[in-house]
Amino acid sequence: MDLSYSEKDEAFRAEVRAFLAEKLPKELSEKVRLSQDLEKSDMEFWHAQLNARGWLAANWPKSFGGAEWSAVERNIFEEECAMADAPRIVPFGLSMLAPVLQKFGSKAQQDHWLPRILNGDDWWCQGYSEPGAGSDLASLKTRAVLEGDHYIVNGQKTWTTLGQHANMIFCLVRTDTTAKAQEGISFLLIDMNTPGIEVRPITLIDGGAEVNEVWFTDVKVPVENLVGEENKGWTYAKYLLTHERTNIAGVGSSRAGLAAVKRIAKKVQARGRPLIENPHFAARMAQVEIDLMAMATTNLRIVSKAAAGQAPGVESSLLKIKGTQIRQEITDLARRAVGPHAMPFASDALDASNTPLPDPYDAGEVAGPYFNNRKLAIFGGSNEIQREIYSKHMMRGAK
Ligand SMILES: Cc1cc2nc3c(=O)[nH]c(=O)nc-3n(C[C@H](O)[C@H](O)[C@H](O)COP(=O)(O)OP(=O)(O)OC[C@H]3O[C@@H](n4cnc5c(N)ncnc54)[C@H](O)[C@@H]3O)c2cc1C
Repeated sequence: MDLSYSEKDEAFRAEVRAFLAEKLPKELSEKVRLSQDLEKSDMEFWHAQLNARGWLAANWPKSFGGAEWSAVERNIFEEECAMADAPRIVPFGLSMLAPVLQKFGSKAQQDHWLPRILNGDDWWCQGYSEPGAGSDLASLKTRAVLEGDHYIVNGQKTWTTLGQHANMIFCLVRTDTTAKAQEGISFLLIDMNTPGIEVRPITLIDGGAEVNEVWFTDVKVPVENLVGEENKGWTYAKYLLTHERTNIAGVGSSRAGLAAVKRIAKKVQARGRPLIENPHFAARMAQVEIDLMAMATTNLRIVSKAAAGQAPGVESSLLKIKGTQIRQEITDLARRAVGPHAMPFASDALDASNTPLPDPYDAGEVAGPYFNNRKLAIFGGSNEIQREIYSKHMMRGAK
């Protein structure tokens, strides 16, 4: 699994490890290791720790207060954080909206919103999908009509991840109903505390409620919250999605997940031998490890392009497909390894304050992450759609 790292890279890795040893509390990393639900305050705490160290915005240019790390540094950081069971950095403001504001936002928007993202003053969520607009996102219907110096927004967004915590939402809205679908969309920043907004939770297959419906009834949005030009939102939306898909690859968390499965498979006995020695199980482990090595290299190539200032292109679809397949396979291996001990799944088990369920292999919650990770092939644009995007690109290239 080793890529070659220079002495300078290894020194950086040591620095990251020392930081994690000092700043990541054991109770928090245990919650992450055991796949228990994190509180909003847990995520805010970790965000603040990274910001204080100047390590929050790895992908931002220095001119905006970012770390502007090389691809290798980002890779090392992600890997070490995952192996130490650090909480995931909530991506909506930091890795999704921020690149859009940096490229298309006005100076006033950059000056106002970007420092707030770093400080954790706002919790952003993503208002793209609607009940009738998922894969076919351009058919979205949430309407924004300009009246004086405000847009009046009506409609419904859905699948809004962590919207229950958010005070801000970036939304795609329809501002022209007569133009071609893609040409009548605008990108608006909306304060979730504006009258007329209602957030309703959706319960997922793992029993958790991390996604929501967001309803808008005559919501007034100041015109200065329009990003870029009216009716040009589709361009900004697509730019954001390439960043979202690249982030989903999750090389570090797959490495941590695979290491955990190995640990469990050494403890589990199957027919008198450790499961890790079972040829069928070992072959699946080896296959996923090889896939992960290949993807890690592709990821480095694509991230270094992004670090050099280019937007990740169609390759982000490739990363999204491979990265999510690998993550799903790892949760499936964990589920199979613990066998019946994955069964007493109850959403209550995800709550750290409840009495723990029997866990002879110290595997933590296994069925929950297995079910939860089914989402990976759907969100950020389903894997079927990513295959279409990538194959169209390949066909064009082959001409
Ligand atoms: C857990 C979770 C969290 C999410 N978080 C957010 C969020 O925070 N913000 C947000 O805006 N959205 C979010 N989404 C929405 C997500 O982006 C959409 O679910 C996704 O784009 C698919 O859209 P859909 O659900 O409407 O399915 P549909 O578009 O109805 O697709 C249904 C099925 O048909 C397949 N399909 C559709 N069209 C084609 C085609 N042309 N060719 C081949 N197959 C096709 C799809 O692959 C899928 O399997 C989230 C979704 C989930 C599950």
